[in-house]
Amino acid sequence: DDAIRLGLRLIPYAEGQRLLVARDMSKLMQLEQVRRDFVANVSHELRTPLTVVHGYLDLIEPDQLPELEPILAELRGQSRRMTQIVEDLLTLSRLEAQDSLPQERVAMGAMLRTLKREADALSQGRHTVTVESSTDVDVLGSTKELHSAFSNLVTNAVRYTPAGGQIRIQWLARGHEPVFAVSDTGQGIAPAHLPRITERFYRVSTSRSRDSGGTGLGLSIVKHVLQLHQARLTIDSEVGVGSTFSCVFGVERALEPAAIGDEA
Ligand code: ADP
Repeated sequence: DDAIRLGLRLIPYAEGQRLLVARDMSKLMQLEQVRRDFVANVSHELRTPLTVVHGYLDLIEPDQLPELEPILAELRGQSRRMTQIVEDLLTLSRLEAQDSLPQERVAMGAMLRTLKREADALSQGRHTVTVESSTDVDVLGSTKELHSAFSNLVTNAVRYTPAGGQIRIQWLARGHEPVFAVSDTGQGIAPAHLPRITERFYRVSTSRSRDSGGTGLGLSIVKHVLQLHQARLTIDSEVGVGSTFSCVFGVERALEPAAIGDEA
């Protein structure tokens, strides 16, 4: 459409006066839309060829071409990684295109059990994973998207924590605000990286990040999902000690436990 979009800013001017600055943002927003569409289209187009590559690679049995097995293993790994990047980009595109989400009761008890199972499966006994729930409120929002955000945080905690470390998944109320937090005793993040950590493809350059199998898109997904829930992400981290990622929800998102028989 040809509507004009204005960015408005109120800035201090002279004593007791303020200046209202209006900027025409239409062009910028159009370009932003072009970028979004482009990323979405490219990701979508890459899906089919990747499925074919993946499918054929899976057809080759390990003992069929023993001398090529190291190469095939590398190809399988890389094609899995590419598929994950494409899926994450599509998730981000979907989140960006949405301005509202389903408003349902997100059953946090079930959510925590699922996350614990996932963490145990990924850790394979290398970490101690604990779940603590000190509030019985649920949250209002999208179960699917919140699961994807929380799951990214749990996955990172496992990835960036050496064997023998501890991972704590918590659901609590701070004041009346529900908080989902994941703490780890992992490598931590230096303060200099924190401002950019949720940007797409931003990774702290360590061999662990590169080898982790991640895409550099996880925290970007977390940020988008939380934004759609008007929730915020806070990160407390110390290098060599560990990190805590907290998702803080507004009071209006807290749902008292459903009455018995009211589960539907
Ligand atoms: P990735 O797929 O690389 O994990 P993310 O967006 O999820 O991408 O995270 C971005 C970067 O932030 C990671 O590459 C890693 O360097 C750092 N990071 C994320 N979570 C943690 C954590 N729990 N402990 C230490 N570093 C982390």
